[in-house]
Amino acid sequence: MAAQRTLLKGGTVLSLDPSVGNFKQGDVLIEGSTIAEVGPDLQVAEAELIDASNTIVMPGFIDTHRHMWEGILRNIGADVPLEGDAGYLTVILNVLAPHFRPDDAYVGDLLAAYGCIDAGITTVLDWSHIQATSEHADAVIKALQESGIRAVFAYGNPWWKYPEPDQDDWFRRVATQYFSSKDQLLTLAYAPPGPEFTPFDAAKANWEVAREVGARITVHVGVGTFGQQDKLGEMARAGLLGPDTTYIHCTTLNDDEIQAIVDTGGTFSLASPVEMMMGHGLPPTQRFLDRGVRPSLSVDVETNVPNDMFTQMRSAISMQHVLAFDQRLAGKQDAPEPVSSRAVLEWATVEGARANGLDDKVGTLTPGKEADVIMLRGDRINVMPVNDPVGAVVWGMDTSNVDSVFVAGKAMKRDGQLLNVDLDRLRRLATESRDYVVSASGFTPPQL
Ligand SMILES: [Zn+2]
Repeated sequence: MAAQRTLLKGGTVLSLDPSVGNFKQGDVLIEGSTIAEVGPDLQVAEAELIDASNTIVMPGFIDTHRHMWEGILRNIGADVPLEGDAGYLTVILNVLAPHFRPDDAYVGDLLAAYGCIDAGITTVLDWSHIQATSEHADAVIKALQESGIRAVFAYGNPWWKYPEPDQDDWFRRVATQYFSSKDQLLTLAYAPPGPEFTPFDAAKANWEVAREVGARITVHVGVGTFGQQDKLGEMARAGLLGPDTTYIHCTTLNDDEIQAIVDTGGTFSLASPVEMMMGHGLPPTQRFLDRGVRPSLSVDVETNVPNDMFTQMRSAISMQHVLAFDQRLAGKQDAPEPVSSRAVLEWATVEGARANGLDDKVGTLTPGKEADVIMLRGDRINVMPVNDPVGAVVWGMDTSNVDSVFVAGKAMKRDGQLLNVDLDRLRRLATESRDYVVSASGFTPPQL
């Protein structure tokens, strides 16, 4: 049987692939799960026709680090910083997290996944440090599968206690049971606490397990005061850094550590809303750009910040601009160029694909790649008339502009409505799980 064909007709197409080009008016042909053709006025017989006029058609956004089990704790940490007795590391990871049952982690992940799809994020890396038991991993993987999103499941150990002796075997079991094929929506990574939060030997052992299994590594480094100890430097001098690793935050790393990441081909995950809000340190975007490395973007924690990439892009570009312009105002002759809107759009797509190890599959609208495509409405009151499509996406739009979302060719959102989800069930499960976890932990949420 021939694969189903869908033609997105007459949109403004941002392929973000220089060899394909962008089109003021163009079409995208989806065949089965892949992109078959991109160009102006495609002549296609026997395809479902979707009118894309007045929309911007582009690759889905890609998030490179989010703790999705925290989905039921959205905005609970509005005034919670990273460190200290009332900080995130204590309250969320040591008070609330231990009370998550597998079902609560499932609901948190499910909420976060549908929130991603609704916001036009088609790939997310789930940095999942909630594996109190082996069953927790089964539960969150079930949620990711059920949602239909493309995800990197990054297996992490719980942070409120020492790893169980069997933790490495749980990871190996998950790898064999769920990830023996790479030709699926879910792929595997390993999310160790890293050298700032475990002794050197434990960090080294974690790296070795990830590489034994063939999983990419994703790790927080340069995290507030924890990042000021040259711990990543120690790993670098031991020859442990490699191109299979994504480094999150990097805010308080020293220059040698950042250079070591660059020299070994590592990728960088910037979470600037979180870093600025919670006290991780100054987002190090310019320090990477100066060395020729562009960031990917990540939401990190919905306990504190919004779940969408519009916020991410505007936060990252505003931050970089203020630093660049401030240097000019101070008369600095070699002040950096303010980063462009087009570059930031690529950070939210192309660079995300690279950091998640999926750049051969997603990140651009390229024939042969998976059909992870979004349509953003340009005829809404917040952006019409569209004068600069890239500028409209980066500076003008929000999640209300996300009209349609396709993951591997499958429609996940159409006409502004999420598909394939029972929202009443989700609402009920979210409330029940939240009530249970908060009550069992004894934590008092902010009061009016
Ligand atoms: Zn994080």
